[in-house]
Amino acid sequence: MADIVGKDNVLTSPYDLDRYSADALHPFRVYSTTNLADQIAQVVVRPASTDEVAKIVTLANSQKIPLVPYGGGTGVMGGTVPIQGGIIVDVSRMNRVLEINPTDLTARVEAGVVLADLVDALAEHSLMPGHDPYSVPIATVAGAISTNGVGYRAAAFGPMGDQVVALEVVLPDGQILNTRPVPIQSSGPGLNQLFIGSEGSFGIITKATIKVFRMPEAQSFATASFDSFDAGFNAAAELLALGIRPTLLDLTEEDDGILLHLLFEGFTEGVVAQEQRSKQVCADFGGRNIDSEPTLAYWRDRHQSGENYKSTALGKPRKERWNRTGWRMFDYLHLGLPISKVLEYRKRCDDILEGSGVRTVEYAIWSRPELFSMLMMCEEGTEDQARESLARVVEEVLILAQDMGGVMEYCHGVGVKLNHLLARELGVGQDVVRMLKKTLDPSNIMNPGKLGL
Ligand SMILES: Cc1cc2nc3c(=O)[nH]c(=O)nc-3n(C[C@H](O)[C@H](O)[C@H](O)COP(=O)(O)OP(=O)(O)OC[C@H]3O[C@@H](n4cnc5c(N)ncnc54)[C@H](O)[C@@H]3O)c2cc1C
Repeated sequence: MADIVGKDNVLTSPYDLDRYSADALHPFRVYSTTNLADQIAQVVVRPASTDEVAKIVTLANSQKIPLVPYGGGTGVMGGTVPIQGGIIVDVSRMNRVLEINPTDLTARVEAGVVLADLVDALAEHSLMPGHDPYSVPIATVAGAISTNGVGYRAAAFGPMGDQVVALEVVLPDGQILNTRPVPIQSSGPGLNQLFIGSEGSFGIITKATIKVFRMPEAQSFATASFDSFDAGFNAAAELLALGIRPTLLDLTEEDDGILLHLLFEGFTEGVVAQEQRSKQVCADFGGRNIDSEPTLAYWRDRHQSGENYKSTALGKPRKERWNRTGWRMFDYLHLGLPISKVLEYRKRCDDILEGSGVRTVEYAIWSRPELFSMLMMCEEGTEDQARESLARVVEEVLILAQDMGGVMEYCHGVGVKLNHLLARELGVGQDVVRMLKKTLDPSNIMNPGKLGL
């Protein structure tokens, strides 16, 4: 490895192995797998080019040594946890923005570019990315692709997977695959899809060409308050059904009320028309159009949790990360369901929680009515008891989503947290995934143990 990347880029100290051998998932939230603290890599390598990645992969493949691709290490499902040990491949030195093309409306970047750096580079050309998660200051382009992340502008631009135009990927046998930088094709299956949301199971992404967007000519924030979640939900669904495309759409119910946050962006006449009609729709569904300050504040602070993570946790040893907050008896679930099932699902979740000691402190839909999330807390009993109660409830709620035709997670991946439920969700699809894996990675070296593989 030292011959390939230089000895300064091969890390083997217990300190380094410790801080790399996990992501932002707290062990409290892993209910069904072994203790995260037991999982440790043998070495971390930090390549600077596709050629170096290909050499690392070829060497590992010849020795059948597991490889774990690593971007910012900010995933929340344990995707970078080296559950069979092996080599962590940190691509953060591959951090160049290679080309910004305002005509094609694309940017070609190396895998390890941090989203905030991409935002800055694009801003010089009056452009912006379509993916804008909380974790802009800390997550990488390839990490976001590999988890198919969702961000604040997803109502208009979709998840990170929708931003992908072309990829360069080092396959498990060391070959380099390049797809073509055209967003639509009819020449065989779209191979980008194999790597979107796949958590590094099929190869290491080394470069990506992604869509970029003009900075909006006009921006307008709107806030509507509702007496019930159902009314806000129906208003949001009607907005999208009408063809209105806010960039931000977030309906949140917390103890102090139910707010629909909307942001309209684009050319001036379009923004004015969409905002006007949206306000009418909200009123039609019993909403009150209030001053937009809550939405402005929400927008202003949207990257704060990412900034906090950067200053208190990023790159720190696991114990330090895990012990930094006392508030951890919670879980955050992001379920996807058909629009027609969401409200019934919520009701049935409330029934499951009844008397369990676990309560939902926030219900939300984010960007589309199909994407429903719940922040659950358990404040009863000891930490162990709270964990047990949460484990039971969370499992039931995830399974219910699957049973109602939905998916257990819409933006963070499967990692180690949800691995045990994936086959249940994919059905025969899991066999297809397994066959693809067997063909591309017969020795199962690429992030083994993830995606149920
Ligand atoms: C404070 C905070 C806020 C967050 N907010 C959001 C949010 O708003 N929306 C959201 O979707 N997520 C959010 N997340 C989760 C996380 O930021 C995302 O999952 C992000 O996309 C992960 O990017 P990363 O570069 O850190 O990837 P990592 O954690 O390093 O890796 C994630 C997965 O991708 C694989 N991977 C990484 N790089 C490559 C590569 N080059 N090739 C192949 N596979 C690779 C890894 O093996 C792993 O399985 C948040 C996390 C934190 C800590």
